Amino acid sequence: MKFSTSEKLYQKGLKHLVGAVNSPVRAFSSVGGNPLFIKKAKGSKIVDVDGNEYVDLVVSYGPMILGHRHKAVEKAARKALKNGYSFGASTEAEIELAKIVCDAFPEMDKVRFVNSGTEAVLSGIRLARAYTGKDKIIKFSGCYHGHQDALLVAAGSGLATLSLPGSKGVPEGAVKNTLIAEYNNLESVKKHFENDDNIAGVIIEPIGGNMGVVIPQNDFLKDLKELVNKNGAVLIADEVMTGFRSTFGGAQEKLGVIADITCLGKVIGGGFPVGAYGARNEIMENVAPLGGMYQAGTLSGNPIAMAGGISTLTELKRQNPYEKFDKIGAALEAILLNAAKKYSVDLVVNRFGSMMNPFFTKSKVTNFKEAQTSDTQKFAVFFWEMIKNGVFLPPSQFEAWFLNSAISNKDIKIIANATDKAMLAVSKM
Ligand SMILES: *Cc1c(COP(=O)(O)O)cnc(C)c1O
Repeated sequence: MKFSTSEKLYQKGLKHLVGAVNSPVRAFSSVGGNPLFIKKAKGSKIVDVDGNEYVDLVVSYGPMILGHRHKAVEKAARKALKNGYSFGASTEAEIELAKIVCDAFPEMDKVRFVNSGTEAVLSGIRLARAYTGKDKIIKFSGCYHGHQDALLVAAGSGLATLSLPGSKGVPEGAVKNTLIAEYNNLESVKKHFENDDNIAGVIIEPIGGNMGVVIPQNDFLKDLKELVNKNGAVLIADEVMTGFRSTFGGAQEKLGVIADITCLGKVIGGGFPVGAYGARNEIMENVAPLGGMYQAGTLSGNPIAMAGGISTLTELKRQNPYEKFDKIGAALEAILLNAAKKYSVDLVVNRFGSMMNPFFTKSKVTNFKEAQTSDTQKFAVFFWEMIKNGVFLPPSQFEAWFLNSAISNKDIKIIANATDKAMLAVSKM
């Protein structure tokens, strides 16, 4: 397999792009080598500029849940294009997507569309503060909530592999209202509430997805919700990754916990830039023009992006692929664990429906500290062997793998074959 065109483009890209990428997770920093440049994708497959074809388990970090270039989505986007790209005024499509989203989340009466997950969360945080009249926010180490200043501490994936504790350029003042707790550790949240009566909200990924996949244990989420509300604060579910991924709607519903504010992104736009935050009327009425919390966007509710979202969610609901995802997910989990056993490699696999990933460790992984026991050098060897055998994975130990509904039995065989070779390579290190 050759990567010479990718290498050429990478060198060329370095001149006017920072690291030749527009998002650092694409930079292959933690697995070595140069990033691949992609030419095109269709269904479950992605093709790089050298013509190498891969089964795609990145799917744009989640959004392409139907696989690439689904017919219904492409048709809807083309049709929308013909009417114009952006108007700075409302369209019917926004009402339609809002209804689909609110219907899918219990207790969500209203929603506001934005352009990314980062925007959804920073607005959701502002709303928590506006609604409670309090300032502080608790976040969990290893959870990533986009790149807004206030939450760019102990923020998991991208930062973890770059070994950055936080980010330069974030002034102390911007994080002085951010408190850190440990995932799956209610006591660590309780302590903050005992010491502080100025806490507006607690933000959490209901399934951790940015320290690798980490699952809430026992009644952690239920107890958390109760604790948060008892203290006059709100629970903010960051479902940018999990929304519409393991069920039609949120992970919250599946886990039996309904947050006060929900933030969405990724799947909701089906590959187009859409984010959203929503809540019950009493909370959403604080947002301008109904209330005093300002939040705006020139391209928010963009008609092409709305068409992408409506068609993706409509098709997703029609296909209802979640049982199939669970079966394929379980099969992949078994493939990984069996290969690890065959070659005596220490491996833990965490999975929630269609999102999963292996950790090269013996320890169970229920929080960021345990995730960091994973041997990232083993992951790097594993990653490149998977690439060379036709499977495109996120280039980091701490990113989740995602299924899409176009994956076939043949694809699973390709993944199984690659996994066997990759695990053998790891065992020889
Ligand atoms: C991806 C992600 C974000 C940020 O979304 P962007 O669209 O990249 O800004 C926020 N929260 C979670 C949980 C995410 O996975």
